[in-house]
Amino acid sequence: MTETSLAALAGQIRIWGRELGFQQIGITDCQLEEHGERLRAWLAAGYNGDMEWMGAHGEKRWRPDLLQPGTLRAISVRLDYLPPDTEPVRVLKDADKAYVSRYANGRDYHKLIRKRLAQLAQKIDAWCDERGIESSGRAFTDSAPVMERALAEKAGLGWIGKNCMVINSGAGSWFFLGEIYTNLALPVDRPQEINQCGDCSACLKVCPTDAFVGPYQLDARRCISYLTIENKGPIPEQFREPMGNRVFGCDDCQIICPWNRFAKPTAEKDFHPRHGLDDGELLALFGWTEQEFLDRTAGSAIRRIGYERWRRNLAVALGNSTPGPEVIAALENALVDATPLVAEHIEWSLGRLRSGRRRKRKIRRA
Ligand code: SF4
Repeated sequence: MTETSLAALAGQIRIWGRELGFQQIGITDCQLEEHGERLRAWLAAGYNGDMEWMGAHGEKRWRPDLLQPGTLRAISVRLDYLPPDTEPVRVLKDADKAYVSRYANGRDYHKLIRKRLAQLAQKIDAWCDERGIESSGRAFTDSAPVMERALAEKAGLGWIGKNCMVINSGAGSWFFLGEIYTNLALPVDRPQEINQCGDCSACLKVCPTDAFVGPYQLDARRCISYLTIENKGPIPEQFREPMGNRVFGCDDCQIICPWNRFAKPTAEKDFHPRHGLDDGELLALFGWTEQEFLDRTAGSAIRRIGYERWRRNLAVALGNSTPGPEVIAALENALVDATPLVAEHIEWSLGRLRSGRRRKRKIRRA
């Protein structure tokens, strides 16, 4: 395939990607050794907690050709997800509301992005077929050992900020990423955005559990997203108070980032809030039966933590809410048939509420 044809195809990929609803499309080579080194050091420090899958695939994570033989390029795409008219700060400040990470207010993004990436891959294959060119590709979105952020940065979609998120100077960081690995030697995009974090360290300072070991380094074991989603066991006591009302994930390091002034609300209906999950009352959510949980989180990322962990998280948040007879009664009633995991968190919350203790906002690393 000539360079001219490859350049023409790269231009087409950008057009098709836009037509499919992606806000940005970039192409990069697969040289990720430097990022692989950093990942190895991060794993060696134990910052991945129980996420053993982060290290389970070894070199496949930073050697795309080992994951998908023949891969020469990665096509990286961006899909914005910030729901319109959302008020994350107001909800965070209201101790009686449940804060759900903005990415999880609507439908699970995996299916939607995978479907669109598959359509994009089909268009590439059809274009190549017509010209007798052999092409093969594989689409991913948070579904395999792929260094999504590193690839996005190399493909020019933004820079990896001190909060470890990809930041785009025109769009902030409220977006999902997806990739197609391809055997086609497409022309690569140069990283267009230099790192513009500068002297800012707002995200590091605002983290309620002091989870950043330093710039660009997160200790997942302290991160509220990890503690409320990935962690299957008890939430360590030292983190319960700073968790506040965050019951599924945490967005503090994105909310504070000045570049998110430039984020635009998504037009994707699938990402708009469902069942009031962007502004729910803690007590109302705690009142859901298991069947209600299953019904109302069908097709949502929340579903994957299951009812028990959902109640564990809500129990902690209620312990940080405004003390009152209604909250205490709800927790006491729930003790009757609570699993040992949930019961232990309820007891912690009841202890706090009965003694009238209110939450403090932050803890600091010892
Ligand atoms: S808050 Fe500041 S330091 Fe953190 S990612 Fe944004 S610009 Fe960078």
